Amino acid sequence: MNAVIPIREATAGCGEAPVLRERGQREVFCGLTGIIWLHRKIQDAFFLVVGSRTCAHLIQSAAGVMIFAEPRFATAIIDERDLAGLADCNDELDRVVTRLLERRPEIKMLFLVGSCPSEVIKLDLSRAASRLSGRFSPDVRVLNYSGSGIETTFTQGEDACLAALVPSLPAAAATAPASLMVVGTLADVVEDQFTRLFAQLGFGTDKPAVRFFPPRRANDLPEIGPNTKFLLAQPFLADTARALEDRGAQRLAAPFPLGVEGTTAWLRAAADAFAVDAGVFDKVTAAGRERATGALARHRLQLAGKRVFFFPDSQLEIPIARFLARELGMHLVEVGTPYLHRQHLAEELDMLPAGTLLSEGQHVENQLDRCREVRPDIVVCGLGLANPLEAEGMTTKWAIELVFTPIQGYDQAADLAELFARPLVRRMKLVA
Ligand code: SF4
Repeated sequence: MNAVIPIREATAGCGEAPVLRERGQREVFCGLTGIIWLHRKIQDAFFLVVGSRTCAHLIQSAAGVMIFAEPRFATAIIDERDLAGLADCNDELDRVVTRLLERRPEIKMLFLVGSCPSEVIKLDLSRAASRLSGRFSPDVRVLNYSGSGIETTFTQGEDACLAALVPSLPAAAATAPASLMVVGTLADVVEDQFTRLFAQLGFGTDKPAVRFFPPRRANDLPEIGPNTKFLLAQPFLADTARALEDRGAQRLAAPFPLGVEGTTAWLRAAADAFAVDAGVFDKVTAAGRERATGALARHRLQLAGKRVFFFPDSQLEIPIARFLARELGMHLVEVGTPYLHRQHLAEELDMLPAGTLLSEGQHVENQLDRCREVRPDIVVCGLGLANPLEAEGMTTKWAIELVFTPIQGYDQAADLAELFARPLVRRMKLVA
């Protein structure tokens, strides 16, 4: 059943705008998908999915080109068993893990990743992880989380993974100086750019060095304590943020680093928290702002006035919609998100054009009806919806590309715009 829940009349932005909440059939990938970018980030971690043949196929096809490298993910298939077979599952899991770790001594962190099949749900993976950790630590830390499609949409897999990792972060002393942590997986190239900008702002010299979580190496976990301040780099990390706050860390409120405006405000939140001089901030960010603004100009010519419709998928929808509307002049027809975290998205919502239709959750048939009725210029959706909509003559953008592509920061702003411009230009050429 759908319900429009009015909270208060919107005055400016969408901070208090009504949201269309929908519950029904969903068309999204499961949290296992996160393994694809997480295993690239933590370079000595291994992800062992405990699941079915379906899970193995999903991981293999999502990983695509990676089949030639020695992979750092695999699936232990445990479905198609009778009850007697299930009794041996723990022994078998132990055997698989032992064989893997003997063969791959470079692995320093192993994630057991749960999935949907009922046989897996019956297995206690947290007990298995602590049993195996006891056996293989200190060389290998074994952790577990769920990537099950019943519990997670595809970016929530990262949230579950990082939340599982938070208890392993070393404790900083209560008297330790203030520190800054950036939370959420960023492509290495983006992380390096931000590291340089933070260094120019004085982090690592007269201010603490910035730490990134997750780190590139399993043994390089940042310390955390009451003097840790953290900036979310991704909008889908609700459980991770809660776990960090439970350990005393404080979240710096900011929009997300997408586009010129988002990147500047995100950096400024850190600069303000650590008393960076406003003149220094302007000077350090000026070149990036100018470069990105210039690069966006040609995309603005193609995108201004075009109508975009978001199906809920990655939880990146609201920050990207804000960027498309404010920096490229696109018209937001509907912005759907699987889950709307009002606190983490407060700054984003304030910047959305007033009157934007926001929807949370999904009833795919209803949303398809709305989409067909308005026939937007471009639809952002999952792979399962893209083909049928293209067949109906609509232009689509796969939401998963927005997660796999480096899009954060000044130097990626134009790349993010191009992800939307390219399919529109292709469609125009097709119909010309
Ligand atoms: S975890 Fe569930 S939804 Fe994901 S691939 Fe496995 S069976 Fe399918």
